[in-house]
Amino acid sequence: MRNVADIKGIGPKTVGLLNKINIFTTNDLLEHFPFRYEIIKRTNLNELENEDKAIVDGKIESVPILLHFRTGFNKMNFRLLTANGPVGISIFNRAFLKNNLKIGTNVIAIGKYDKFKNVITAADLQFGLLNSEEKLLPVYHATSGLTNKNLNTYINTALLFYHKDIIDNIPLYLMDKYKFLNKKTALNIVHNPPNMNKLKEAMVRLKYEELFAFMLKINYLKVEHQKEAAGITRNINQEALGEIIKKIPFQLTADQKIVLNEIIKDLNSKRRMNRLLQGDVGSGKTIVSIIAMYLNALSGYQSALMAPTEILATQHYNNIKDLLGKINANINVELITGSLNKKLKNSIYEDLASGKINIIIGTHTLIQDEITYQNLGLVVTDEQHRFGVMQRMALRNKGVAPDVLYMSATPIPRTYALSIYGDMDISTIKELPKGRIPIKTYIKKNDEIKDVLEVMYETLKRKEQIYVIAPLIEENDINTLTNINDLKNKMELAFGKNFNIGIIHGKMPAEQKDLIMGEFLQNKINILISTTVIEVGVDVPNATMMVIFDAFKFGLSTLHQLRGRVGRGLKESTCILISDTDSKRLSIIEATTDGFAISEEDFKLRGHGDLFGIKQSGTLNFKIADLKEDYKILLQVKKDSMEYLENSKYQDDEIRKRLIDSINKD
Ligand code: ADP
Ligand code: MG
Repeated sequence: MRNVADIKGIGPKTVGLLNKINIFTTNDLLEHFPFRYEIIKRTNLNELENEDKAIVDGKIESVPILLHFRTGFNKMNFRLLTANGPVGISIFNRAFLKNNLKIGTNVIAIGKYDKFKNVITAADLQFGLLNSEEKLLPVYHATSGLTNKNLNTYINTALLFYHKDIIDNIPLYLMDKYKFLNKKTALNIVHNPPNMNKLKEAMVRLKYEELFAFMLKINYLKVEHQKEAAGITRNINQEALGEIIKKIPFQLTADQKIVLNEIIKDLNSKRRMNRLLQGDVGSGKTIVSIIAMYLNALSGYQSALMAPTEILATQHYNNIKDLLGKINANINVELITGSLNKKLKNSIYEDLASGKINIIIGTHTLIQDEITYQNLGLVVTDEQHRFGVMQRMALRNKGVAPDVLYMSATPIPRTYALSIYGDMDISTIKELPKGRIPIKTYIKKNDEIKDVLEVMYETLKRKEQIYVIAPLIEENDINTLTNINDLKNKMELAFGKNFNIGIIHGKMPAEQKDLIMGEFLQNKINILISTTVIEVGVDVPNATMMVIFDAFKFGLSTLHQLRGRVGRGLKESTCILISDTDSKRLSIIEATTDGFAISEEDFKLRGHGDLFGIKQSGTLNFKIADLKEDYKILLQVKKDSMEYLENSKYQDDEIRKRLIDSINKD
């Protein structure tokens, strides 16, 4: 691939600047797409207000006067005759243009209009006149020392002399099918758009190509994954399934049954399971995974459940113990956490290696190198977005070819799930268990705290419990602790006489956290003051109220997750967001409890680059496509790329080879 240094007119200094914005090759340069377009359309000076942006054209009426300043700047003034009459033009540092700016020359000036002086201070000056159609000017991400215009010039040089370097990743038959522009034409249009329609046509073609390359790789991984070391085949015992379902203290919802069947089908088939189970907070994913692990144990394999926090791991452990206790099954469940002493840990390691333990629950300790399993058959990761891709892989690789179930309480609209988890199958629980009463959410200002305290008091009187979430202070534990202690003092003052107030935060030793959670679960603690450590998974149905301080500091998804800690039982729950600012954003949380709708909004606000804090190795850094806007193209591309991949006609196609080869470099 040609280096930008080999392009005519690009010297070493410019190469350095281009490299700074990640442009190394001709292709990088050609695919450095404008991030927006300036629409150039003649403005009517008479309609402009002072300081408005003006775009005018006309004939030069006076010889430009050039002024040099001692600071090295220069300024040129001349008069331009426009359709709305004469106007003064002032432009800085264009002394070099003076000889071209003669009386009678046609120019376009773009700048800020001083209505009182009738002068435009131009930021840009171009030769020629505007036609009646609007003109589109590409705007690039540039860097100091490298202007928009420089970039456009280099790109056009590359297009003119080095278009043979262009790499096109759309197979010919698809080019024909959609009557796509050839790539050179499309690139030319995107960098020098003649009009909006042409630009749109070129964009679609380039977006299609980028998404095609992306989906082809994802589909390839998916197909390979299925071929990989044939998975475990089981013959799930339907009777045992019926029995455990009977023992559950509630009726499974229809969605829970559907996803359970999808999972059982995977467990039975020799295909290796790679499934994402997504469902809103409180939709009841845990029980589904417990049943799957139980059935896996009955088939003679070990299961591992990995949770992001010790609190959550402990809670899962207790749930499983409870349920399996009822069945009298001879199944050995163990909990392993970082805080376990060495001796106990070692004995667990031994029992895992010998197969004595059937189900192991833990945090990321489960992926440590020392741990070996006798026959790990099923791996479940809870709150999977909390783990990095590599951590998930590490656990998966502990078995020969274990089936894998990822659970995510962060509902991801199908749109984005498809691309983030493109190589997984997806099961979704949409409905919440029956009888849930929607949580009432209110936004309150700090000076309305009295009302909040009153509602808290009413709640406590009903013997229900409250979470109080401390203001978020990023990466500053000392301040966070002061905050928590402050809050505790205030709460003690208000309720300390009659109620117990507890504190929990991430820096506490695990045993202490477990102790506190245990007391909260038993209603020995009535108000629990916490940081976001309780954000994920924790389940205390008697907690019916949450107060979140400085709510505006939290992301929408975090707020939704936090709020999901209440409204888990049959009583009405309340969530109060305290905030003096940004109520517009918070009003989304106030207005809906639908996690899917909230994640859509979060997506709109934050974009896909930072979806729920998922920052996955660059796979989602598109140059021109946008998952949200281009979802329709993505769907088509998903289908097209799969057909292309599977059609034997194209097995040796150059595009196929090139894209698959590039997977390891991503
Ligand atoms: P999440 O999907 O957020 O992990 P959980 O699995 O923690 O949700 O379930 C939330 C609560 O709902 C738990 O207390 C659980 O026991 C209960 N639950 C799960 N399924 C049902 C159901 N079908 N009917 C009633 N309660 C249920
Ligand atoms: Mg959960």
